Amino acid sequence: MRLANLQGRAVLVRHDGAIDIERASDRRYGPNPQSLFEHWDEFRDWERGATGDVFDVDGALLEAPVPSPRQILAVGFNYLDHADEADTEIPRHPQIFAKFPSSLTGPQATVHLAGSEFVDWEVELVVAISRRARNVQVDTAWDHVAGLTVGQDLSDRKLQMRKPAPAQYSLGKSRPGFAPIGPHLVTLDELDEPGDLEIGCSIGGEQLQLSRTSKMLFSVPELVSRLSAILPLLPGDLIFTGTPGGIGGLRKPPRFLQPGEVLTSSIEQIGTMRTTLAAGHAL
Ligand code: ZN
Repeated sequence: MRLANLQGRAVLVRHDGAIDIERASDRRYGPNPQSLFEHWDEFRDWERGATGDVFDVDGALLEAPVPSPRQILAVGFNYLDHADEADTEIPRHPQIFAKFPSSLTGPQATVHLAGSEFVDWEVELVVAISRRARNVQVDTAWDHVAGLTVGQDLSDRKLQMRKPAPAQYSLGKSRPGFAPIGPHLVTLDELDEPGDLEIGCSIGGEQLQLSRTSKMLFSVPELVSRLSAILPLLPGDLIFTGTPGGIGGLRKPPRFLQPGEVLTSSIEQIGTMRTTLAAGHAL
């Protein structure tokens, strides 16, 4: 299944167009995409046989496929080449911070740089949780994953590194729009190998990051298992699973996102996001 959010309404994306979930289910499911996670298994059973009016979707109207998770956890330094470029020790435990849900936006959104000249890209695989995960073993962890999507962990490096405390990671990565996700949430049965997908991002055809999700230091099942040992992961929660090497702030010279640039972020078999950067502040 490919699930999308068309202006606040959950839709199934099929090869020939989209089906509105609330209408096709006679109001049993939807319209809010987030509400599907309350009865995920039941919804999946219904969805397999779902039929309805098929219509064309304008990708520019899509919003975040998971629009209002209760928790968004994000992982730092989860690829060796990124830990190396940052001159950071290889972590023995996943390094975790939060992205606040108000930072979510859609797959073709315009994101305001909020007056910062230090906003950086981080393409990431994003995991959505299906059923409550608590003390989950690695070998059953995929059973708690609803699906995967593409994300950008946009980061205001200056705010991120601001003192006091070790740094202000969660704030620097949570300005409005700094968590674009999409275009679709894709369930695992749609993917040849959910643990090994090509991931990358580019600007104007110039490849900035390119890797494979199999290179994560802590795989998706490892992350779900280790995180669920500390706190419950709730249906509809998101995990940003870390970025490969090639971020802008560690280039020589450093390079940051500029107003007018379009950042393209892709994961094979999942999809592509196009994020337009703009000057000024979001409302
Ligand atoms: Zn990140």
